[in-house]
Amino acid sequence: MFAPLSRRPAALLLAAGLAWGAPGAQALNIVFNDVGTTAMSGQQFAAFEAAAAFWENRLSDSVTVYINIGFDNLGTTALGTTSWAQREVGYGELRSLLTADATSAVDASAVAHLQPGGSLSFIATQTNLSTRLDRDGSANNSRLKLTTANAKALGLNATTSIANPDATIRFSSSYASSFDYSRASGLAFDQIDFVSLAEHEIGHALGFVSGVDSIDACISQATHCGAIRGLEGRAWYTALDLFRYSAPGTLNLSVGSGAQPYFSVDGGETALQSFATGRNHGDGTQASHFKDGGGSLMAPYMAYGRAYDAADADLMALDAIGWDVSTAPVPEPGTYALLLSGLAVLAWAGRRRS
Ligand SMILES: [Zn+2]
Repeated sequence: MFAPLSRRPAALLLAAGLAWGAPGAQALNIVFNDVGTTAMSGQQFAAFEAAAAFWENRLSDSVTVYINIGFDNLGTTALGTTSWAQREVGYGELRSLLTADATSAVDASAVAHLQPGGSLSFIATQTNLSTRLDRDGSANNSRLKLTTANAKALGLNATTSIANPDATIRFSSSYASSFDYSRASGLAFDQIDFVSLAEHEIGHALGFVSGVDSIDACISQATHCGAIRGLEGRAWYTALDLFRYSAPGTLNLSVGSGAQPYFSVDGGETALQSFATGRNHGDGTQASHFKDGGGSLMAPYMAYGRAYDAADADLMALDAIGWDVSTAPVPEPGTYALLLSGLAVLAWAGRRRS
């Protein structure tokens, strides 16, 4: 997912934000560009525009995010995939940026519960799949990664453009005829809501990603992983990983260790939503998601016949990592406890999205 992005000639360019943003208003602007092997239809473009407009209407950060999009042959294992540009930042600097950017109740709690100092302490998986409390101050403790879109939301400079985009989202052409591109006509039981899928993939681009997936992939190739600088000598984790707890006071960045990680903005006291734990060595789905079955936009599977927008937990996650959410949701522990306890009964027939 971190591979360099391939380039194809631009077929059509749309500045989605221009259609929705009031002149001069502080708002996210998503500029997208079709680079797929088959040019998108007007209907497909309109659906992606609707997804972009959803985020533009909810996030008030005055930044422009460039996203390449397109239909490609991804086979049938994924509905869509997202790759992104990223930049590194020191943990201490990131905490300062998050503090300076704090505007909501979620932000206030999130930054108040961040670990002090320039280095993080967390549970980490080792190359032999054991776990340990890693607080040795090496690069994986003190350096973090941000998607460039997330970096921009925090006021960091990131030089991106149409030619050098923040992210590339590819949709599977195998499902092109299974997608419903308009919400206006209602969604059939055997159709997949494309706007939901596009909103999900944009969510990754905005920063809903976890370094736990990189560790999970790295451990599958232990020699490759250890040959460069190992697990200790470089940045792996992301801003979202600052809010991944398995118990009060226990930041848990392990891969499927058995302890269920959850999203928390109060140092692990309140579990807002469980996270997925890894495709290879975890629960079978990428850790850059909430756990399947919670009804959130950023879950790893989507059901046929159902349309999703970002739920409160999705919005709170983006809020916590540095986006300014219009009418930001406020954590209500009781509500979420109830939601979590009800998860097991939801039966989802879905297909993987990445
Ligand atoms: Zn995904």
